Amino acid sequence: MKQRYNFLLINPWIYDFAAVNMWARPMGLLKVAEFLSSYNVTLYFIDCLDSFRIKRFNMGKYPKEPLPAPPILKGIKRRYGRYGISEHEFLKKIKEIPSPYVVLVTGIMTYWYPGVKRVIQLCKEVHPDVPLILGGIYPTLMSTHAEVETGADFIYTGRVDTKLLAMLESIGIKLEKATEKRPYYRLGFYKRMGYAPLLTSEGCPFRCSYCASGILWREFRQRPVEEVLREIEELVEIGVRDFAFYDDALLYRREEHIKPLLKGLRKILQRLPSHRRPRFHTPNGLHARYLDSEIAHLMRETGFKTIRMGLETVNPERQRIIGGKVYNEELRQSVAYLKEAGFKKEEIGVYLMYGLPGQHLEEVWEGVKFIMRLGVRVYLAEYSPIPGTEDWRMLVDKGVIKEDIDPLLTNNTVFSLLFSGYSEEDIKRLKDFVLEYNRAD
Ligand code: SF4
Repeated sequence: MKQRYNFLLINPWIYDFAAVNMWARPMGLLKVAEFLSSYNVTLYFIDCLDSFRIKRFNMGKYPKEPLPAPPILKGIKRRYGRYGISEHEFLKKIKEIPSPYVVLVTGIMTYWYPGVKRVIQLCKEVHPDVPLILGGIYPTLMSTHAEVETGADFIYTGRVDTKLLAMLESIGIKLEKATEKRPYYRLGFYKRMGYAPLLTSEGCPFRCSYCASGILWREFRQRPVEEVLREIEELVEIGVRDFAFYDDALLYRREEHIKPLLKGLRKILQRLPSHRRPRFHTPNGLHARYLDSEIAHLMRETGFKTIRMGLETVNPERQRIIGGKVYNEELRQSVAYLKEAGFKKEEIGVYLMYGLPGQHLEEVWEGVKFIMRLGVRVYLAEYSPIPGTEDWRMLVDKGVIKEDIDPLLTNNTVFSLLFSGYSEEDIKRLKDFVLEYNRAD
């Protein structure tokens, strides 16, 4: 009989000033679990973020334990803390799991590394001799930092593939194919599956100057529509009610992808009783350029409830400089299509960045007013630079940041306060204004 190896997979806590669960799951780590599920392994899983108070549409607020901010963030007048399950709960879970052969930890946002570090520290206290591999977006973007700071034995960069098998073999674990690959939602990791993120594609055909998509995914690939529909049906069967599309470019190549997908969805919905009909959300922002009248109507018919689109700035010159993914007229037109299809202000939101390099606050106010004139919600997003991007290089070259800056300083809350050049009062005035506008009918 083949030997079976116990693998422990962990999604760490978030350490930050603010965090809300908008249908998130550690998709990269779950892809690793799916990949490993066809080998001679027994998978154990701890998601430190699988705890939140449900608000609307199965979204929710994570429990927060206030913690002293790291010394480098001392001047920031916000409450820092750890989001997710308690340490006590984490230790209880890890001690209940049979001795693993290897521990795999994921790191997502670079500035959440204190959560990764703490998880690794606790793992090492419980299983000092078990090799620990850290993978995910954070070590892919900042491998040297992850190597020096986290205490992980091995750093895995990039997407999951046979490279992982080679790394495991180098530490004495030779995996062999044992069965068919299973989707993460069939692996028994989550007791309650009220929501699920969906990724119908990998990567993005654009290369915006501030975005890491092109670093994480060299190519843009869309999954077969039939496969995505099957996944949605299976998830509905196990009780999922809310789906969040996390694609970077969901509407790209619309005739071959999103339109057949929505039409297929429409057929599935016709077979479901109304109480089991799912709701759909696009928290990652859609490309307004590709949203036409047919898509808007299909989205309405298939139960989209939260539609977000990215504008980022209203300044056409800056729109061109950062990558040209959308221009004002395209946004205006797409909002008109959505409204014509029946969507209301509270269902449509547009992301607008503040603190972009060289951006004055007046430009942000102009953007707010432009979106208000369209009669949809405004979602402000603080700019923060990501290692490896064009913006990062430009900010390093100009001496605004150092190449080896502590990622904690690139936290979106922190970066905008320290580097945008706007005063705290001005930012507060802007945020309060937007909050009030969004609340009004
Ligand atoms: S379009 Fe969006 S996902 Fe694509 S590169 Fe630009 S910001 Fe990133």
